[in-house]
Amino acid sequence: MADGESQSQVASPIRLGPVVCEKDAKALQFIDEMTTNTDAVQERVLGEILSQNAETEYLRRYQLDGATDRDTFKSKIPVVSYEDLQPYIQRIANGDRSPILSSRPISEFLTSSGTSAGERKLMPTIYEEWDRRSKLYSLLMPVMNLYVPGLDKGKGLYFLFVKAETKTPSGLLARPVLTGYYKSDHFKTRPYDPYTVYTSPDEAILCADSFQSLYTQMLCGLLMREEVLRLGAVFASGLLRAIRFLQLNWKELAHDISTGTLNPKITDPSLKECMSKIVKPNPELAEFITKECSGENWEGIITRIWPNTKYLDVIVTGAMAQYRPTLDYYSAGLPQSCTMYASSECYFGLNLKPMCKPSEVSYTIMPNMGYFEFLPHDPNAPALSRDSPPRLVDLADVEVGKEYELIITTYAGLCRYRVGDILLVTGFHNSAPQFRFIRRKNVLLSIDSDKTDESELQKAIDNASELLKEFNTSVVEYTSYADTKSIPGHYVIYWELLVKDPANSPTEEVLNQCCLVMEESMNSVYRQGRVADNSIGPLEIRVVKNGTFEELMDYAISRGASINQYKVPRCVSFNPIMELLDSRIVSVHFSPALPHWTPRRSC
Ligand code: AMP
Repeated sequence: MADGESQSQVASPIRLGPVVCEKDAKALQFIDEMTTNTDAVQERVLGEILSQNAETEYLRRYQLDGATDRDTFKSKIPVVSYEDLQPYIQRIANGDRSPILSSRPISEFLTSSGTSAGERKLMPTIYEEWDRRSKLYSLLMPVMNLYVPGLDKGKGLYFLFVKAETKTPSGLLARPVLTGYYKSDHFKTRPYDPYTVYTSPDEAILCADSFQSLYTQMLCGLLMREEVLRLGAVFASGLLRAIRFLQLNWKELAHDISTGTLNPKITDPSLKECMSKIVKPNPELAEFITKECSGENWEGIITRIWPNTKYLDVIVTGAMAQYRPTLDYYSAGLPQSCTMYASSECYFGLNLKPMCKPSEVSYTIMPNMGYFEFLPHDPNAPALSRDSPPRLVDLADVEVGKEYELIITTYAGLCRYRVGDILLVTGFHNSAPQFRFIRRKNVLLSIDSDKTDESELQKAIDNASELLKEFNTSVVEYTSYADTKSIPGHYVIYWELLVKDPANSPTEEVLNQCCLVMEESMNSVYRQGRVADNSIGPLEIRVVKNGTFEELMDYAISRGASINQYKVPRCVSFNPIMELLDSRIVSVHFSPALPHWTPRRSC
């Protein structure tokens, strides 16, 4: 968008087709009100948060003295990251019930996929937050109905899962946000709505065993194949895992469909009972599934099995963009719709043009969800210091074409908290800006919800290098790559080794073991993906010939990099570089076992 273009020129009305029902009309009116009065709503939200939490230890510490206005807030409250809040959070986790961050009781901790010291971050939340989040969910279908008619005439096949939960020392639950949501009354006792009828029974979604959950969700999806109008998962990686699951388990699924029985691996009593009412013998369908799945060619399998699917409902923005071509392949190019942008800390907003191309997705932050500020993003700027606080921009004042880091203040008590997401302003809807998700700061590798940064990778390399010492060998250079060609995807680490005594070079077994040591060094979200969710495959080390990284540098310099400033990229994805690295491989090694992971936290 050209600089200087006025906001009204880029505003895009969402009124497309006829509004299908009264409920939708109300939801769209709400969006209209929120996005028209962005700044006023933000002012009100900040006032509410500050007056609600005026007596908290945190706001008192910064001497807000009951002020609820933006200027005082901005001048007194520092911009913080998780590490700054950790002592407060730890006290809450240990049972201190005084109003530390929030005047409302903390109802549970939501465990973010972002980590601190190798463990998931604990985000305090309050019960009433589910109302706000449910409200945002309730806006998604009214927007979708403007673009895709007839979604009340069938069902959604959504692969949704709960994950392991733990308790803090004081007994507060700590679990991923969606696990909290699916287990809440907001989800379990939701009123019937013809636009959100799912093929998966709640018993299947709520079954903590990932095999039993996925098996029964797939079985229901197959049994109701003709009724399925949309197919989804939260992230693209989850939908592809379901397709891979079908590849591996279609024979057992077809057997159940043919005979009307349930696989004995399904042992959860409530799940067995509910499935017994759904599974009926249907040999014709079993034959069809067998014919489609036994072939070598899985191109377009989604549209063959679920022929009435109008779109895929999955997030394919941010780290998930890498899965777009594979989804295209399996779905014969069905539209991929990204509807929502959210996090454990706060749900942010929705995509008002959900059928746009994935590369054009922009999210409109809803100003009622929290108070949002934006730190102009300059990768070369010095780190933030307390002495020269940064100038943050308000939601209504961001500029088209600029990148910002998102800073949030929430009802649950996070104040000026750095989420770590970098967003680009692409336009405005009424007076609400729309953002393209650019990336999460400091994330080098990601396959599913795991996020590995440079220092974590370095630490893993250091730990694995210990095994090489007795062979008088060291890792002289390395880089990495998130390989998502196979499902599940896996981390690939390229190593150039300096072997001082070729007669005593590291054995095959030791190099395999290095892969496992690297996996053991990764954060708990990575290890959970490997062990519990099977969403990440074994880590691979590719040893490359000596001199390969020098060739890499020559290549970069030939393309204009400065020789003085050249740094080895710690993650690569550019095809010519991958080809160069792969053409110099000497040996390939995989992790021989699963790393350790338990739901318990180590700190
Ligand atoms: P978590 O805290 O584990 O719930 O993860 C939230 C993070 O996931 C966000 O801060 C983003 O980095 C990422 N995320 C969530 N929604 C989207 C989206 N629609 N597109 C890209 N990234 C997203």
